[in-house]
Amino acid sequence: MVDPRVVPSSDLVDLLAAVCDVESVSGDEAALADAVEALLRDQPHLEVHRDGDAVVARTTLGRDRRVVLAGHLDTVPLTDPPNLPARLEGSGDDRVLRGRGTVDMKAGLTVFLALAVELGRPGSEPTSDVTYVFYDHEEVEATKSGLGRLVRHRPDLLAGDFAVLGEPTSSGIEGGCNGTIRVEVRTRGRAAHSARAWRGENAIHAAAPVLARLADYEPAQVEVDGLVYREGVNAVGITGGIAGNVIPDACTVTVNYRFAPSRTEAEAEAHLRELFEGFEVVVTDSSPGARPGLDDPLAADFAAAVLAATGGEPRPKYGWTDVARFAQLGVPAVNFAPGDPMLAHADDERVPVAELAVCREALRSWLLGA
Ligand SMILES: [Zn+2]
Repeated sequence: MVDPRVVPSSDLVDLLAAVCDVESVSGDEAALADAVEALLRDQPHLEVHRDGDAVVARTTLGRDRRVVLAGHLDTVPLTDPPNLPARLEGSGDDRVLRGRGTVDMKAGLTVFLALAVELGRPGSEPTSDVTYVFYDHEEVEATKSGLGRLVRHRPDLLAGDFAVLGEPTSSGIEGGCNGTIRVEVRTRGRAAHSARAWRGENAIHAAAPVLARLADYEPAQVEVDGLVYREGVNAVGITGGIAGNVIPDACTVTVNYRFAPSRTEAEAEAHLRELFEGFEVVVTDSSPGARPGLDDPLAADFAAAVLAATGGEPRPKYGWTDVARFAQLGVPAVNFAPGDPMLAHADDERVPVAELAVCREALRSWLLGA
């Protein structure tokens, strides 16, 4: 459990190890949510709310701007044998903490927790009010999302002028995210015994032009608010055929389009309908992207503070993250936290502990207006 006494004076590494050692695989976040809630309720400068296993804490300094720092409490399942408790390896500045959640995304959570405890005390008052959001069920179906539930129950608690999501970015800023849409492209045929194939029509053969159009497709690179997003249209599944001696009467190619955040979901759908003209196209799943919002003055200050602390230029985020939910609420959002995103969900997840202090310092100096 997180011991409130270890924050903020102790090493951030101890806090991160403690947070990692409270297992919180999706659906099992209660213990960590309880620990986070207890820690935050101990801080007289924070107003704390609980919704299921989500915890929201806010400063109420009456500032005219509000910044949201948000992150999910859950992790993907442990490995067998388990990759917990977290283990510290190496020495000095080269130390790494290894274990489930160290990258995705308890390093980000730890930085936010340390800031929540520190900022708002007399003498450490931020120039914006700050809302901290710790939520459950991110690593599972979108319908279970704790952040989605907060959007439904208490959108007022998520209001802000700018949000930072603690997904791993190797301490660089990754702005916005691509949208994603999945469609099924369906072909029909006529079933027959394969010994008398001339009596049927082969639906799998009819899908050949669909695959040819995908193979020939040249994905765009689209500049949005100064960042270049790479798109992609790919077959991610194909089904058809019911037996080894039957001409198939149906075939379905599942296609996923990752589209730049300057396009709407409707525009993405229209693009796919045009690409697969002449075929039946059924949308099965779609989520909008999010613009990076780096043209906002608050975001520009943030980018400058991060640049000063880490030397990293803003980059686009290709994968879909919860920044899109904030964008839908009208809150521009970026991803920023320690940890290599390529190691998220990896069996050997590990974070260089030096990054914890770098990220804390970048956020701290930005929020204090230093
Ligand atoms: Zn994550």
